Amino acid sequence: MKVFWDPVQMQHAPKFFLQRGHVRRNFEVPARAEVLLAACHDMGLTVEIPAQVERAALEGVHSAAYLDFLRDLPGQWAALPDHGPEAVPNIHPSPEMFANGARMPVNVVGQLGWYTADTSCPISATTWPAALAAASCALAAADYVSAQGRIAYALCRPPGHHAYPARAGGHCYLNNAALAAQRLRDNGAARVAILDLDSHHGNGTQSIFWSRSDVLFASIHGDPNQYYPWYVGHAHERGGGRGFGCNLNLPLARGADDLDWLTALEHAIAAIRSFGTDALVVSLGFDASLHEPLQFFHVTDDAFSRAGEQVAALKMKTVLVQEGGYATGQIGALLKRFLSIF
Ligand SMILES: [Zn+2]
Repeated sequence: MKVFWDPVQMQHAPKFFLQRGHVRRNFEVPARAEVLLAACHDMGLTVEIPAQVERAALEGVHSAAYLDFLRDLPGQWAALPDHGPEAVPNIHPSPEMFANGARMPVNVVGQLGWYTADTSCPISATTWPAALAAASCALAAADYVSAQGRIAYALCRPPGHHAYPARAGGHCYLNNAALAAQRLRDNGAARVAILDLDSHHGNGTQSIFWSRSDVLFASIHGDPNQYYPWYVGHAHERGGGRGFGCNLNLPLARGADDLDWLTALEHAIAAIRSFGTDALVVSLGFDASLHEPLQFFHVTDDAFSRAGEQVAALKMKTVLVQEGGYATGQIGALLKRFLSIF
């Protein structure tokens, strides 16, 4: 098993976070990656810095205009009078505006609202290099698994599963798991499954593959009636067009425990088997843990060991992509739990 990691990811250190009307310290911090990397070193795993991502690979998932926006925004933001330290949106175009012919404005403040889903994805000068580095880790892990290995772990930060083709959100800018899945397809895997274990619904990943019959998306997450991303993640969302039936949402109520979580995982694993999956991507978040500051689920450390065993039992080529998990004192131990079977 190989680990892909790029220290450039540490440069991204978002400050702003809005929660229930409070401006709080952002908890998607560089220390998260430090403890995950330390856990990899403790396990004696080989850690490799990937080659810089190619633009063409990014455009397999994201729009060219969105990629240019992420790259160029900091310079435009810095030219604004009395600008804040980070770019944070204060308006998003609504469905009513689109129905009335909404257009992309020239001004960067309007563009920022256009390309973001919420206020949880502040952008600074270090965001783009870090997001590129995270994407590079995911793509390198997919290449490694395609060519030689059975499993690789992409230690990605910032995370990715809330990012749409042309929209950032929920700490995510580039969708690392989707990039890995597309790369596995491009490398020859006919059918790819994505198993999303983060406690939040992977709304960006779902959207990217919504109409695709070659990629199964299966997600176990908090019920959107009670939890971010609020509007999607329901069981009735099954995919569209040729992709109908290739989207499996398994929402769980607040307080779900090991039995609830692992039973849902059994359903997801069964779907991945019956899909005829050639290669697997796991969106590996640790925020279902009972130790998390969000405290939505009550999943114990032992359940992460059981989850690793269930994934390992699939005996598939597997790319593990790091998503959320914000209890910096615990996530290193949870990673060890999940990886120990491999
Ligand atoms: Zn999450």
